[in-house]
Amino acid sequence: MDYQQILQDIEIEIQPLFGKGKVADYIPALADADAGQFAMSITLFDGSSYDVGASDTLFSIQSISKVFTFTMALKYLGSELYKRVGREPSGNPFNSLVQLEYENGIPRNPFINAGAIVITDTLITHYKNDTAAFDAIVDFIRSIADDESIRMNVVVAGSEMEHAYRNLALTNLMKSFGNIDNEAIKLVQTYFNHCALEMNTKMLSRSMLYLANHGVDPINNKAYVTKAQAKRINAVMLTCGHYDASGDFAFKVGVPGKSGVGGGIVAVIPQKMGICVWSPALNEQGNSLIGTKALELFTTKTGLSIF
Ligand code: GLU
Repeated sequence: MDYQQILQDIEIEIQPLFGKGKVADYIPALADADAGQFAMSITLFDGSSYDVGASDTLFSIQSISKVFTFTMALKYLGSELYKRVGREPSGNPFNSLVQLEYENGIPRNPFINAGAIVITDTLITHYKNDTAAFDAIVDFIRSIADDESIRMNVVVAGSEMEHAYRNLALTNLMKSFGNIDNEAIKLVQTYFNHCALEMNTKMLSRSMLYLANHGVDPINNKAYVTKAQAKRINAVMLTCGHYDASGDFAFKVGVPGKSGVGGGIVAVIPQKMGICVWSPALNEQGNSLIGTKALELFTTKTGLSIF
């Protein structure tokens, strides 16, 4: 298959969509992003990669980080984790409070904000403090992306903290039900810090390979999670990776994927490749509008989906 040609064709076909959607503006530091940007990368098991667009440009990974923190928590806690966070789609917006009230402070899944905050809470407990937990998260991401240069954008992290009202509300509500062990401010700051890590589509497509290969990096053979855990992470990405548009993403694209409000989306083609697409303008559910279309075109043109 001529992947380079396919990516170039996609880049042409998505052109009419520029100008549609809206960049995330509830985080002021993200509001200035140029909506005209686009990049797409795929990385295959032999390490070869194909890219189009601004594939070297770093962007805020935001909720894509939730795939990595879920992986770490599952590794350390195993199925005990599901006492603290569920694995069902929420059918609600990413930052919704409503279900927590009548579901005893147990978030529906690890990919809505409440679920990711609980996951970060378990990591802070595991690593004994917030700094050690954040360092471990960064180390893990550097390892799976095979790139030591990955850093946090302090301006984005600070900007999120200044507008943290809703995430603090989620955290305090869960704490009132006994589902948060650590101090709320430090916890939410750690969560924002991992959301504010910056990567490009090349790094992120590379970082998906362990999920495409049963938990083992196919390039260097490092094992990160068990085969069963990799299956579960992919399943939760498929059913919950795009908030209340998860069904639509499965319907249109048909692979496990996870979006972030920075405009990135990662996707996994089992036994074949990792993919990342980035374009900052979002659809109404907070997922990259052009990114979703590009992935739909990719699975349509290649015939590669899990269905
Ligand atoms: N840091 C963002 C927030 O908590 C992540 C949201 C997202 O990427 O969906 O609002």
